Amino acid sequence: MPLTAMAMSSHTIDLDFDRHHLWHPYTSVSNPLPVYPVCRAYDVFLELEDGRKLIDGMSSWWAAIHGYNHTVLNEAIVSQIQRMSHVMFGGLTHEPAVNLAKQLIALTPQSLQKVFFSDSGSVSVEVAIKMAVQYWVALGKTSKNRLLTVRSGYHGDTFAAMSVCDPETGMHSLFKGVIQEQFFAAAPACRFHEPCTERDLADVCLMLEQHHMEIAAVIIEPVVQGAGGMRFYAPEYLVRLRELCDCYDVLLIFDEIATGFGRTGKMFALEHAGIVPDIMCVGKALTGGYMTLAATLSTDRVAETICSGNPGLFMHGPTFMATPLACAVASANLNLLVSYDWQKTVLRLEAGLRQGLASCMEFTNVSDVRVLGAIGVVELHRPLDMAVVQKKFVDKGVWVRPFGRLVYLMPPFIMHDEELGILTAAVCDIVKTMQ
Ligand SMILES: *Cc1c(COP(=O)(O)O)cnc(C)c1O
Repeated sequence: MPLTAMAMSSHTIDLDFDRHHLWHPYTSVSNPLPVYPVCRAYDVFLELEDGRKLIDGMSSWWAAIHGYNHTVLNEAIVSQIQRMSHVMFGGLTHEPAVNLAKQLIALTPQSLQKVFFSDSGSVSVEVAIKMAVQYWVALGKTSKNRLLTVRSGYHGDTFAAMSVCDPETGMHSLFKGVIQEQFFAAAPACRFHEPCTERDLADVCLMLEQHHMEIAAVIIEPVVQGAGGMRFYAPEYLVRLRELCDCYDVLLIFDEIATGFGRTGKMFALEHAGIVPDIMCVGKALTGGYMTLAATLSTDRVAETICSGNPGLFMHGPTFMATPLACAVASANLNLLVSYDWQKTVLRLEAGLRQGLASCMEFTNVSDVRVLGAIGVVELHRPLDMAVVQKKFVDKGVWVRPFGRLVYLMPPFIMHDEELGILTAAVCDIVKTMQ
C-alpha cells in the first residue's frame, strides 16, 4: 500500500454513512447517538480509529471472556477455514460439531445428553420453548403450551423469547396481540447471600398451582438476571423451583446464555444450586466472542418423548446450524477455559470489582453496589444520560456501556488487576460526578 493510502486508512470508517443508513441495537435512525469507530481489538483493548485504546469492561456483551485477537482462538479459526467454513448440517456431520457437543455434555450436568446447535441466544431460547411445547404435544397434553417465568428476566429479542422477557422493559404493550401472553410471577426477592423463604416463592407457587394444566415449562435465568436488571438472587430459590416443577409436572428451562462458562464463579450458575433443568440454553461466551453460536441441551427424557410423538421429529433446523467455523473456535475456547485455573481467575476479578466499586456506595445517587463472580453492578436511583456518560467513559480510556439506572462491568477473564483498577476507578469517578 502506498504511504499516503496507509496514512488515510486510519480515517476510513464512513461515520456519515453509518449515521444515515445503519441501525445499531435499540437506537433511532432519525436521532442516533454517537457511535465510536473501532478499528482493532486485542487483549482487553478496543482501539479507536483516532488511536485511543479503551480498556474493555463489557467483554462485548458477556462474550469475549478471553479478550480479543487471541492467538489460540485465531489459530482454531484459521485452521478450520482451510478445511471448510460451512456445510449444511442436514444429512451431514463433521468433527467440529461432534467435538463441541462432547465438550458441552462433559461440562454440563450428567443428565443433559442431547445438543441442538443454533445461531444465536434468542434462537436457542426459541428452540427450548419449542422443545417444551412438543414434549407435551407428544404426551397428548396439548393444553400445556404456555410458559411461566419471573419478572425482570431477559431471554432475547425474537418473539417467543420476548414473550418471556420482563413485560415492562420487554415492551409487551407495544407488541400486544402479536406476542403470546405468558404467566409472570414476582421476580425472586431473596438476594444472593440471603436465605430464601416461603414468602419469596409464594407467587410462583400460586401460579403453578392455578395454571399448571396450561404450563409447558418454567423458564428462568439461574442466579443472575442479566439484561432485565442485573439482579443476583439466592440459589435456594432454584432448588424450590425444581421441586415445584416436579410436583406440578412442568418442565424447567435454564437460560445460561449470560451466566454460562464461568462468569458467576461456577462453570454454570446452576452449580450454585446443585440442581439440573430439563432444558438449558448456552450462547454468548461459548465461542469466546468470536462468532455467533448457541446451543440448547436437553435430557434424554425430553428428547425421546418429543420423538415418540407426532411427527416423531423435532421441528427446527437453521441454515447455519452447527457451522464448523463457530464450532471449531468454541471448542478451542472451552479447551482454553479449562486449561488454566479459571475459577481462581474469576475470584481474583470478583475481589478486584468488590474493592474497586465499594466507594460508589457512599454516593448519594447510588442505591446499590453488588458483585458476583466477574460481574460488578452499580445501581443508581435515576437513569443516566447515555450520550453524556458514554463520552465520559471513552474520555477516561475505558469502554463501559450503562443502561438505564445500571452501570455494570463484566471484564474479560484475562484482565490484569491494574487494568481492572483503572476500570473501577473510572466507574466511581464518573458516577460521583453525576450526583
Ligand atoms: C443475550 C441473552 C439472550 C439472547 O442472546 P442473543 O445472542 O442476543 O440472541 C438470551 N438470554 C440471555 C440470558 C441473554 O443474556
